[in-house]
Amino acid sequence: MVRTAHHNGLKVQSFGHFAFNKRYELWNRDIDRLAPERLLEQMSVKTGVTLREAKKTTLSLFEGRLFESTSLSGQLRWITPLKLYHRTHTGFGMQYCPLCLAESTDAYYRIAWRVAFYTFCPKHLILMEDRCRHCGMAVAFHRIELGKYHQLDAPDLAVCWKCGVSLTDFTPIPVNIWHQNVHRRWKWKLAVLDRGFVNSGQVKTQRLNLLHQLCRIIASHSLAPDLQQYLCDKTNMPYQHISDVKIAFEQRSLSERHYILELAWWLIEKYPRKINEAIKYKKLRPHYLYKDMPSLRFK
Ligand SMILES: [Zn+2]
Ligand SMILES: [Zn+2]
Repeated sequence: MVRTAHHNGLKVQSFGHFAFNKRYELWNRDIDRLAPERLLEQMSVKTGVTLREAKKTTLSLFEGRLFESTSLSGQLRWITPLKLYHRTHTGFGMQYCPLCLAESTDAYYRIAWRVAFYTFCPKHLILMEDRCRHCGMAVAFHRIELGKYHQLDAPDLAVCWKCGVSLTDFTPIPVNIWHQNVHRRWKWKLAVLDRGFVNSGQVKTQRLNLLHQLCRIIASHSLAPDLQQYLCDKTNMPYQHISDVKIAFEQRSLSERHYILELAWWLIEKYPRKINEAIKYKKLRPHYLYKDMPSLRFK
């Protein structure tokens, strides 16, 4: 929508007021998450994109696939929170691949980049970024124009809204492929998200739920205190400190999430062999692992 506004020569807020309703406060909410039906209908009418296509650009694409249903509040499984506070995004939930952004003359942010296991770009094999490396601010592309009343051209959404430095100007960090099979599967899942699930077969929601549960348990210092060390010994991965604040997996930092995911994807590979082994050595308790998935328990 930000791009639609710019291509019509309008600032985002004016566009919102002009196309919808003055009282409509679009920017106080995470519109990827809660794009109101009315907004999507209007966008659809004004741009010629079908309502179904318009919905695919919002988080409802993941409904029934990554999480059960969109709701007003609460953490959606696998979706990074933006923590909106009156238009200033204070969370670091908007991730981006600097090379994908740089590739197009009309930079845009993909909805798949809001997924918490999307920690590297499957196309460029580099780690995702979640802030401006120059000033450290979170990405908030709709703010780029705010207060810049004399700017007439459509602004480049690949620049930091705060300091104006290009988000694509930094040296990307290549992802460390230390296990071909693990990273191949992970990459495949990310490519499925990129395609919006087109030609991807049925999504194995339960497997993703299990992965999510493993991420939670690995990060927890109380549910499985020895599991991380066990996994590091098995994989030769370095032991990294995981912060013991009680937050949802999706709220953890990008680098922490990436590290935990590497261990979790490894553990879920060859399912259920490695998991059963970890259970046998008492590093993992089935009671916690299969808490909400009793049907998987006796595999
Ligand atoms: Zn990329
Ligand atoms: Zn900046």
